[in-house]
Amino acid sequence: MQTHFTAEQLTDPDVAVSDRILRACVHCGFCTATCPTYLLTGDELDGPRGRIYLAKDMLEKNRPADATTVKHLDRCLTCLSCMTTCPSGVHYMHLLDHARRHIERTYRRPLPDRLIRWVLATVLPYTGRFRFALRAAGWVRPFRRLFPRRLRNLLELADEPQRRERISSHPAPSATAARRLKRVALLPGCVQPVLRPQINEATVRLLNRYGVDVVVAKGTGCCGALVHHLGREASAHAQARADIDAWTAEIESRGLDAIIVTASGCGTMLKDYGFIFRNDAAYAAKAERVSSLARDVSEVLAELHLERRTPLPTMRVAYHSACSLQHGQNLDGLPAALLRQTGFNVVDVPESHLCCGSAGTYNILEPEMAGQLRARKVRNIESVHPDVIAAGNIGCLTQIAEGTRIPLVHTVELLDWATGGSPPAELRARMS
Ligand code: SF4
Ligand code: SF4
Repeated sequence: MQTHFTAEQLTDPDVAVSDRILRACVHCGFCTATCPTYLLTGDELDGPRGRIYLAKDMLEKNRPADATTVKHLDRCLTCLSCMTTCPSGVHYMHLLDHARRHIERTYRRPLPDRLIRWVLATVLPYTGRFRFALRAAGWVRPFRRLFPRRLRNLLELADEPQRRERISSHPAPSATAARRLKRVALLPGCVQPVLRPQINEATVRLLNRYGVDVVVAKGTGCCGALVHHLGREASAHAQARADIDAWTAEIESRGLDAIIVTASGCGTMLKDYGFIFRNDAAYAAKAERVSSLARDVSEVLAELHLERRTPLPTMRVAYHSACSLQHGQNLDGLPAALLRQTGFNVVDVPESHLCCGSAGTYNILEPEMAGQLRARKVRNIESVHPDVIAAGNIGCLTQIAEGTRIPLVHTVELLDWATGGSPPAELRARMS
């Protein structure tokens, strides 16, 4: 694709990167066929190629974002299915990140939109605030029909009584293994320890069982992905820098073999820190080191030769491959392979490349499209009649749970059970 940035524009490192990305695109349109939002609307502007043209026009002319561009770029899930499909290696994610930062700088959104984005950016990345907000949401939940649709979706997070019981005040776990093979740091996360603390707890048990020492570096919290996808660069960088500093201190004091992540959306972000901070003299090297150590939990587990140690009931497991794992980190088959290796009957789900509609805060900001994608995902999963659904991302677990009665668990909870731990609570209830 030809571009027309001026020499002066190209001195901006972000523009230079976007220029290279745009020039790689041959506008073949292969990506359009696998784009979930294009599948829903059939509108070229709701597909990757159309969005690339919109971003190109806005950035080349260096003009403020207009309502049409914002609408279609907002509707993008950042699922990155288009990057998996693209034969030319177009790095759509970095182009979209640049376009979203430009939108955030140049476009004044309507007041309700600004308000909800402010709430999301101010509450979700902070575990304490989110825990309190969830409790408060439980109090006003009986009146949720009085709220606008998007706020109602937030209140749905406090929907089920059993979910409220899961709200944990436990700190993120830390433990020491008896025979140490590796020493890893666990990203505690922000939303996940509140909604489902069992995930990190199962992760620590499982890793300890196989000789991996797990620490939570003091000062780590949200990875910055939530606000990064909202285009809030300064907040995303501040959150990422706090994590980078905490892990750097840990690396330099006692050493780390890996930094592990149990929410794959965060894993994609950590692996991109090196790129994000490439022009920051104080952080470039530290960020690159963090990215080189970042691993999805399944990558570390694959090195540990897991084996089944617990008798398991006959059980069909539908593995939902989160976009951030399959498209963001190219780890499509690995978690399902670990489940099979430890004795689970994993059944294939049709259209597994399609997003469930969660996509960070997408299901709150774009409820119509997110709801349609969830319905399609649930239909596909239920068509294979599983006993349980497993996924490696808290956003997907929460999103799909709204549409089905089939129990959902994180992949590590099943692996912990198979290798000597207890069954996840949802399955215990079904087995008794
Ligand atoms: S598949 Fe790749 S090269 Fe083809 S239009 Fe999409 S982004 Fe461009
Ligand atoms: S990231 Fe996903 S929703 Fe966005 S353009 Fe690519 S395939 Fe479509």
